[in-house]
Parts: sequence; structure tokens; C-alpha cells
Amino acid sequence: MPPLATTTGDHLPLARNAMDYFDRSTDPFHAVKSSVDMLKEAGFEELDETDPSITVVIGGKYYYTRNKSSIVAFTVGEAYRPGYGGFKIIGAHTDSPNLKIKPRSKRSLKTSKSIQVGVECYGGGLWHTWFDRDLSLSGRVFCRRNLDNDDDGAEFIEQRLIKIDRPILRVPNLAIHLQTAEERKAFKVNNEDHLSPILAMAAQKALTGDSNDDTSTEDKEKDNEDGWTEYQEPLLLKLLASELDIPIESIVDFELNLYDCQKSSLGGIYNEFVNSARLDNLASCYLAVQALVDCTKQDDFIKNDQDISMVVLYDHEEIGSTSAVGAASPILGEAVKRISAVLNSKEQNVALYDLYEATVRKSFALSSDQAHALHPNYASKHEKNHQPQMNAGMVIKRNANQKYATSGPTGIIMREIARRSNLPPLQEFMVRQDCGCGSTIGPLISSTTGIRAVDVGCPQLSMHSIRETMGVCDLTNGLELFKSFFIHFRSVDDSLEQ
Ligand SMILES: [Zn+2]
Repeated sequence: MPPLATTTGDHLPLARNAMDYFDRSTDPFHAVKSSVDMLKEAGFEELDETDPSITVVIGGKYYYTRNKSSIVAFTVGEAYRPGYGGFKIIGAHTDSPNLKIKPRSKRSLKTSKSIQVGVECYGGGLWHTWFDRDLSLSGRVFCRRNLDNDDDGAEFIEQRLIKIDRPILRVPNLAIHLQTAEERKAFKVNNEDHLSPILAMAAQKALTGDSNDDTSTEDKEKDNEDGWTEYQEPLLLKLLASELDIPIESIVDFELNLYDCQKSSLGGIYNEFVNSARLDNLASCYLAVQALVDCTKQDDFIKNDQDISMVVLYDHEEIGSTSAVGAASPILGEAVKRISAVLNSKEQNVALYDLYEATVRKSFALSSDQAHALHPNYASKHEKNHQPQMNAGMVIKRNANQKYATSGPTGIIMREIARRSNLPPLQEFMVRQDCGCGSTIGPLISSTTGIRAVDVGCPQLSMHSIRETMGVCDLTNGLELFKSFFIHFRSVDDSLEQ
């Protein structure tokens, strides 16, 4: 027998780049960093939002971040005229459900033989999938630094990203022999009692010569006076200090989450699936940034663009988006206001109020978040005429109660963009009428800014599991749709009766 042919060969280079992005982006801070790396390589310039006189010029490429966990990137078309052009925005979210280290990480009792850390559930994860996985830690650590390295020097609190690349934590299942028949049937996780991971065994720690006490006496003397350190698992602090090559006593706080060390992989007999953590919603983040970068490399894209082409990746979608950097924050409205005003000030031809109102009317947000593909073993859970399949094209999500922002006109605009670019027809998703409907950032973008929006996404299985699955071809479908959006939106919008 000859070897089985793979039908996805053309799609694999993009899939591999996307998988590398997924593996590097183990938390929102790293997702923003991975995006910044792509943008910098393509010549995007960082803006300092705190500068009251930022410079933005026609034809320029820029980005800025907030809280290091949300990012705004944009290009200014050379044909853009303030008040007459709009913002073409692709929005997505950088966060995924995970277990975060509690503010007071120390959990172990003095008598316990296992050293554990306390964790908090972030978002609505399928927590049973976190058992028996090779878990590690990533996020950011705040360290106090003495700028001049002497006692009189000014102090500075630095933020360091950290990603530990080996499995140091585990949430073990309870052996089947120790469960009653009812417990086996239920497999119910108590989020407080059952999810705390094991970091080490106390006996092993003793063998290494590490003291059982929190930190050395010297460290304690230098402890950051507010008593923060005494509530932290000392072994965890030691690990962070050694990874970052800093003194333990310089650590003043952290924001860390657990992640699965297993790298993403191609799956299916024809290599037609990507199996990975955080596909919801890193797939959208990667495709949005890649589409913007690819467009800037196309001849004449920026030269002919009459708009601002923008990507906004928000943190905190999984917990409702109501934060200073989520989709319900003023981040996008402020971007539209400020960028159009800075560009307008050079021509000084439109009154500021008119400028914002007219710009919003001309603008459009493509909100991208992963969609539910038909699960063959649970087909009855899906509405029978709205069943997206993997590798069959992007999905438009609809809900008359506005859990999704898609309207008649915004849905038609996306279908027209796909049609004019010869892309696979868009699939349609809605939930059964006896089932609750999820939501995403589209309705929040629309309600906070007044900008029209459509909700789309790549179809996937196992949403919110520690390991999810999507179609390899849908990465290509998504990238092509996003590029076509930036290229064709204006002409499609102009051809539609408003
Ligand atoms: Zn999502």
C-alpha cells in the first residue's frame, strides 16, 4: 500500500506558524508579546499612550498595549481622510479559562507531605480536563529593583514575563479503586478542594537541603515589609527567583496561571486537525495579527486604503469583559477618537464632534471568537439547520436576542466579502431554542462605541477544555477572510444601502 495522502499540505505552513504562536502564548501577557513580536518584525512602531502629543502619520503602522494583556495595532491608509474614512476593526480576546495562583499561594499545612499551591478558577473551564496533565506556570512577576544598586538609589518595580517550560505541577485524579460507584458516575469537581496542584514532595525538598522554613533569615530581614512574602509558598518564590535570576526578596507580587506543557499537534489521519490549548481564542488573535501584517506587505494596500485598518485584542472576555482592558472598556472608542483627532489636527477640516460621529458611522467591527463545530457524538445538542463543520469555512454567529452582534446588513457584508474573494461560503451558527447561548465581544464593542459589528469564528470542538481541536483548513479560511475584510470592506459597504 502506498502511504496515505494528506490533503492539507498547502495549509500546513500556516498551521505550523499558528501552532508556534499558540505554544508561546500561554497567558494574555505572552499572547500580547507574541503579537508584538509579529508586528515589530513587520515594521510596526510602538506608541506611548501617555504621551499627550503622539505622532501618527498617513501611511504609518503602529501598536500600543494596555496592562500588557490587551493590544491595539493599526495602519493608516494613505487615502484616509479624517471624517470621510472609518475604522475597519478585527477584535478578538487574549485570555482563556485557566487556573490562576491565588494571591496567597501557600496552601500546605506544616504536617502535609505534599507541597501544594492554592489556585483560583478563571473563567468557565472544563476543569475535569485539567486532571493528570503536565502543568506548568506562566505570567508576570513584579520585582523591586534598586536602580543604582546602592542603598540610596531610587526604587523601581519592574514587570518580568515568566514561562517555565517544564511540567512542575500536577492535579492528580483520584484512583478508581478509591471512589464509590456514585462518585465515579458523578465525577464532580469541587473547585476549592480538588484542583490544587502538587508542586513537590516535602521529603524531596528536605533532601535538597532546602530549609523547611519560608526563606533564609537574611531573606526574611529584607522581606518587602508589607508581609506579602509570608503568605507565599516559599518553594514557588524560589523557583521564580531562580528562573528570573533575581533575589527572592525582590519579588513583590505576581500574576501567574497554570498551563499545559504539551505542545500543540496536528491530528487526524490526513493531518486535518490542530489540537492545542487556548484555540479559543488564540486562533482569532493569531489570524487577526497575521492578516494585518500580510496586508501591509501587499503592494498598494496601504496606498489605496481609505480607512484605518485595526486589530484589537482584549483581555478578560472569559469573565465578562468588564475591566479596564476588556471589550466593555473605553479602549476602542478612545482609539477611534484619538487617532482620528490626531490625523485631523494636521488638516483641521472637521469639527471634533462631527469627526467622531461620522467616523463611527463609517466604521465596522469584525468580532472573531471560536465557534462550536458539530460534535458527531452529541449531534442532538445542535440546532439541526445550523451545524458548522470543521474545515468547511468560517462561521457567522447569530442570535436575535443580541448575544451575538450580527445583524442583517453586517452578516450580508461578510458574505459579500467572502463571495467577492472566492472564499468558501460562510457557515451559520445559532443555538437550539431549549439551550442557553454564549456571548462574546461583538455586542460589547457595538454597545460601548455604536460601531456596527458581526460575530464570526473558526469552528472547533471541546471549547474550554485544556486541549481543543479545530480544522487546519479553517486557519487558511480565517486568514483569507480577514485579509479580504481589510481589502474589500470599503467597496462592499459602499455598495450596500445604509
Ligand atoms: Zn472565546
